[in-house]
Amino acid sequence: ERIVSAQVAGDEERIERAIRPHRLEDYIGQPAVREQLGIAIEAARKRGEALDHVLIFGPPGLGKTTLAHILAAEMGVNLRQTSGPVLERPGDLAALLTNLEPRDLLFVDEIHRLSPIVEEVLYPAMEDYQLDIVIGEGPAARSIRLDLPPFTLVGATTRAGSLTSPLRDRFGLVQRLQFYSVEDLTYIVKRSARILGTPLEDSGALEIARRSRGTPRIANRLLRRARDYAEVRGDGVITEMFAAQAMQLLAIDNKGLDELDRKLLLTLIERFDGGPAGLDNLAAAIGEARDTLEDVIEPYLIQQGYLMRTPRGRIAGRLAYQHYGLPEPARE
Ligand code: ADP
Repeated sequence: ERIVSAQVAGDEERIERAIRPHRLEDYIGQPAVREQLGIAIEAARKRGEALDHVLIFGPPGLGKTTLAHILAAEMGVNLRQTSGPVLERPGDLAALLTNLEPRDLLFVDEIHRLSPIVEEVLYPAMEDYQLDIVIGEGPAARSIRLDLPPFTLVGATTRAGSLTSPLRDRFGLVQRLQFYSVEDLTYIVKRSARILGTPLEDSGALEIARRSRGTPRIANRLLRRARDYAEVRGDGVITEMFAAQAMQLLAIDNKGLDELDRKLLLTLIERFDGGPAGLDNLAAAIGEARDTLEDVIEPYLIQQGYLMRTPRGRIAGRLAYQHYGLPEPARE
């Protein structure tokens, strides 16, 4: 199980569900998002209407799914969940849409991976609550139009740039999630520890938060590893020392960077002279999938200044040289 990954495997899903906040007031951080959505929810509720369609951008683990569930809970409606790659044919989407109750919320994760034919079906559904479907084939085929109940589409995507503009334009609310501050993550870790019944010292919480790459899912993963460590090596209380030792065991350094970050940055510095290096070359050199690099690994490195994205490729940031104790090249 990798600490930095977009996959949520087996047991983790159950734990995530247990510690996932259910109300907007428990959703920590993201003040701008919370305020805007809070207003939209209240207004929609007052008018007795469905909430406007919401698009949520952000790297994995920042709270997109959590937010979708909160929106449904705050609106007092059902949430149906699916994802872009799962909806292969227009009929798959039609089946979901025709089963919605008025004001229900349909959550489509990885919405940038919808196939174009399914996306076409979504346009009139989002705009006019209408579904155009073709039944039959060949000369006997005909198109019928169905009325849908008013509903809310919540789309989540890791890639701002991969969405077609007709789709993007149909969302009334577009929210971008930011990486979380250490302070917010400390709060999240403490809250999770409380729910899991794990004793955690303040300094232990801070130690975990500092190494969580601004990401609640990673903070919760590290908390669980630190809990294991403290139970086996100590009396179960997560102290600063146990938290630090658990992170060391996972090869996570004091800035929260792991082996893969190290490999990426050192490869860029040593084999590509600090760059610019194309994403594909870099992915091949470290043996990772391009998508993993782009969606999971590099957003935090870029945000922190270890890595820069330029039109000619990736460049190692000054911070990367400093962090690994390497001399910076003179750049003209
Ligand atoms: P995403 O859908 O963006 O990949 P999730 O919504 O599944 O991320 O969030 C991963 C985990 O992080 C959740 O189980 C939840 O416990 C935690 N989490 C995310 N955002 C917050 C937040 N704002 N406050 C508290 N916990 C959060």
